Amino acid sequence: MHRQTSIYSKTLSRPFKLLIISHPTDTIPNMNKSNQQQSLVIIKPDGVQRSLIGEIVKRYERVGLKLLAMKMVIPTIQQARQHYSSDPQWVVKKGQSIIEKFKAQGKTTSLTDQQLGQNILDTLIKYITSGPVVVMVWQGTNAIKLIRKITGGTEPLTSDVGTIRGDYTLDSYQNADMDNRSVRNLVHASGSPEEAQTEIALWFKPEEILKYRLIAEQILYDINLDGILE
Ligand code: ADP
Repeated sequence: MHRQTSIYSKTLSRPFKLLIISHPTDTIPNMNKSNQQQSLVIIKPDGVQRSLIGEIVKRYERVGLKLLAMKMVIPTIQQARQHYSSDPQWVVKKGQSIIEKFKAQGKTTSLTDQQLGQNILDTLIKYITSGPVVVMVWQGTNAIKLIRKITGGTEPLTSDVGTIRGDYTLDSYQNADMDNRSVRNLVHASGSPEEAQTEIALWFKPEEILKYRLIAEQILYDINLDGILE
């Protein structure tokens, strides 16, 4: 898969041949770039309003992920609805998880799982369309899992220290429920490679996803760590 180019110098007294070998990014020898994944990440309106764009980008950047696309938009209601409808089971599953939570607390509700889930979805649409957001595509080995780890659990109150949601905000389900609003947790990150592909296609045109080689990948994915010494 190498591309070889030969250049003959006519200006030197002796014939001189320079051999240039270039490689497409994913076929560089001695690099193991297996299980490369892309993930769609959104810095939600509270992240922008809290001036946390730089901090959040830094977290994904410093682990070695590659930023392929980035833009700032104010999502429309239609975009937000499409974004959160990539999993058609989401509403019912969310409603069921709330009923489970109620049961564990000894509480009951007259609402169905569908109604409870739909209410969460409605408040979520209101939240995500309330102001500018930053939409990004990140790529790297096991990017989906890695980004979810760095992002932290859904509820900031219980998400781990060291994660974005755990370190930079304080919201809880209890406070969100009391105000009948979505829990404010700064970031959205794709849950699976399939979800990521649907979400990326929703927010970006193919030509907006840049293809380039990041120098850091040379050390992150190099098999033998050769080529360091002069
Ligand atoms: P995650 O964003 O961690 O993947 P979900 O896909 O379950 O979580 O939910 C999407 C978003 O909906 C969450 O990030 C959060 O803003 C909001 N949300 C989820 N569950 C609740 C809930 N029980 N109460 C209020 N808001 C919620």
